[in-house]
Amino acid sequence: TARKRFGQNFLTDQGVISSIVGAIAPDNNHVMVEIGPGLGALTEPVADMIDNLTVVELDRDLVKRLQYHPTLKDKLTIHQGDALQFDFNQLQQAGKKMKVFGNLPYNISTPLMFHLFEFAEQIETMHFMLQKEVVLRLSASPGNKAYGRLTVMAQYYCQVVPVLEVPPTSFTPAPKVDSAVVRLLPYAVKPWPCQNVDVLRHLVTTAFNMRRKTLRNNLKTLLSDDDFATLQVDASLRPEQISVEQYVTMANFLCDKKD
Ligand code: SAM
Repeated sequence: TARKRFGQNFLTDQGVISSIVGAIAPDNNHVMVEIGPGLGALTEPVADMIDNLTVVELDRDLVKRLQYHPTLKDKLTIHQGDALQFDFNQLQQAGKKMKVFGNLPYNISTPLMFHLFEFAEQIETMHFMLQKEVVLRLSASPGNKAYGRLTVMAQYYCQVVPVLEVPPTSFTPAPKVDSAVVRLLPYAVKPWPCQNVDVLRHLVTTAFNMRRKTLRNNLKTLLSDDDFATLQVDASLRPEQISVEQYVTMANFLCDKKD
């Protein structure tokens, strides 16, 4: 019985499951981590391919099932708890990066993305089943209506690749929305390095505060018309018209101004 409060929609479509496992490409050279294993739809085929799989699951009843699962119990390292609070640094192993994946509860997907970006340097790849709309936001280009705060921060840390669209009928119970799988590849070397990511996060949040207003209007407490001129950024544009690179340039300018 699925619990609504934990966002439990279990994957049942074998074709979709094998496509996702293929995209994840499980191996023993990475610390493999699943968020929200549930009844094990992805857990079992992934665990079959490797020696050890770490899972983070909130629901104590599901954790118990996994602990006693005949074929899984010896392969799993189980952490019962909230993935949003989980310190992924504790999973570090010398010389290994993590591959993180999961069919996520959709109500926590945006905060979880932001939480995982904090560990981006230790992560090789992430594969997540998300609400399709969230995948559109993650992968949007400037000028697109889905382009926003999540887009800029995701594309600052990662290359974003939509992998697969998944209909509600692939799950039990069927969710009300369309889903999609996304691949996030954290940059080993960032194309637009930022001096202080807190400054970037604050700038981007402030810029998108009122989507229909201009940059000048949204950022008036941070940047003057002279600053925009120096930056060669047109202050009459709306926040969704500014590239990730331009946001990073503005953030670095703010960092320099403070020094
Ligand atoms: N991976 C399974 C599948 O594909 O069938 C289950 C997917 S279900 C959409 C989401 C899973 O995440 C559930 O098992 C749920 O209990 C778990 N979950 C919900 N909130 C969580 C949280 N904050 N931290 C960790 N797991 C969570």
